[in-house]
Amino acid sequence: MNTKGEVLIQVQNLQKSFDGHVVLDGISTEIHKGEVVAVIGPSGSGKSTFLRSLNLMEEPTDGKILFENVDITDPKIDINRHRQKIGMVFQQFNLFPHKTVKENIMLAPVTLKLMSREEASQKADELLERVGLPDKANAYPGRLSGGQKQRIAIARALAMNPDVMLFDEPTSALDPEMVGEVLEIMKELAHTGMTMVVVTHEMGFAREVANRVLFVDGGNIQEDAEPQEFFSNPKNPRLKEFLSKVL
Ligand code: ADP
Ligand code: MG
Repeated sequence: MNTKGEVLIQVQNLQKSFDGHVVLDGISTEIHKGEVVAVIGPSGSGKSTFLRSLNLMEEPTDGKILFENVDITDPKIDINRHRQKIGMVFQQFNLFPHKTVKENIMLAPVTLKLMSREEASQKADELLERVGLPDKANAYPGRLSGGQKQRIAIARALAMNPDVMLFDEPTSALDPEMVGEVLEIMKELAHTGMTMVVVTHEMGFAREVANRVLFVDGGNIQEDAEPQEFFSNPKNPRLKEFLSKVL
């Protein structure tokens, strides 16, 4: 799917420093509705900081982020209202250990009063079907495999009906045999037209599922291309070197 629909997120000259150490050095890009954007790059290059900046989990040092045409870096806006539309999936799952799988999925929409308990319960059942784990509704996260935990984390993020899903290395903490089941759910999600930004080391996913691949290095986007071009005809010398190591 290469929809190039409306712009959903606009990043303008995004800068982030930690104690004077520049991590993001003026990133500008756009994410369009329906796009699946893979973000790759060496460890420490700023990928997580970039992703976390998109929902202001990291506050930019400078620059702007427009989400659905609203400048969410404007201190006057209610960031929580916008965050509700941005689903996030982390490497370490971050499920609530003392709540069942179904309670994990229902928690945000019910607590934020976006759904009645009944609606949230029905939505959770649908999502459990979708990620292939309807029999785990009453299990606690500790009883699940890593792959199952991540599928639940995806379901939990989807329970808020987000407009975009951000994934930060969702398969990096998994045993190799569980990577495929999580990537499969993400691929199905991509095929529903969900807008996705995925930081990943899974080059197969980037190549086959993404519409665009970004190479981040030195706090900036060094290459931005469709997968075919990105992998077969990389232009940036550091990307060439990176690909020679990971492919
Ligand atoms: P990546 O996800 O590409 O591995 P990160 O965005 O996590 O990279 O980190 C980029 C750089 O920013 C690293 O040097 C890291 O140490 C630094 N960094 C990230 N978060 C913080 C923080 N909260 N405080 C200080 N330094 C940070
Ligand atoms: Mg990271």
